[in-house]
Amino acid sequence: MDLVFATHNHNKIKEITPLLPQSIRLLSLDDIGCTEEIEETENTLEGNAALKATYVAQNYHYACFADDTGLMVDALNGDPGIFSARYAGSQKSAEDNMNKLLRNLGDVEQRKAHFKTVIALQIDGALHLFEGIVTGEILREKKGTEGFGYDPLFKPDGYTKTFAELPMSEKNKISHRARALEKLILFLESYSTNNKS
Ligand code: IMP
Repeated sequence: MDLVFATHNHNKIKEITPLLPQSIRLLSLDDIGCTEEIEETENTLEGNAALKATYVAQNYHYACFADDTGLMVDALNGDPGIFSARYAGSQKSAEDNMNKLLRNLGDVEQRKAHFKTVIALQIDGALHLFEGIVTGEILREKKGTEGFGYDPLFKPDGYTKTFAELPMSEKNKISHRARALEKLILFLESYSTNNKS
């Protein structure tokens, strides 16, 4: 079965392909000739992931999944949330985003936060959603050089190090994205077993 991951990032495709059932051939947006930018116009992670997967299914007639991720900070009423990538502006700078987060949190004691990933899968006319969450807190200064985005500021619960201080293999065991992906993979395994012709 062909399955599209609504991304232009070939590293993501390479990373996920070995985890999927062998009967699935994973394709990127470039592989199917979809070069247009799919605008994320919804106001929830679920809405934006569903929008992207549905766009591809309807316009290109492939089964497709799409993901959307946000960092939700309790003391900021869930910000930056769906705006995580462009919190400090459209240049999408991780440094600027982290600096803005530190400024907005100031000296606040309560620094609980969570990352959430939603994966939306459009297959055979049905939409399925899979969610992964990791809880933690926002430190007062950046620590570590691994990872990307807000990793230097996020310390997951039960750990003494930030995501940016953990090796990628360790982060990938507990991350929001890994947890959502695990649910998608379990679903696809049973789906491809039950739909063998
Ligand atoms: P996306 O939906 O995967 O593009 O994620 C949106 C934004 O959330 C990214 O641009 C990052 O700023 C942030 N983000 C997503 N995943 C992570 C992560 O694992 N660590 C740190 N920041 C992340």
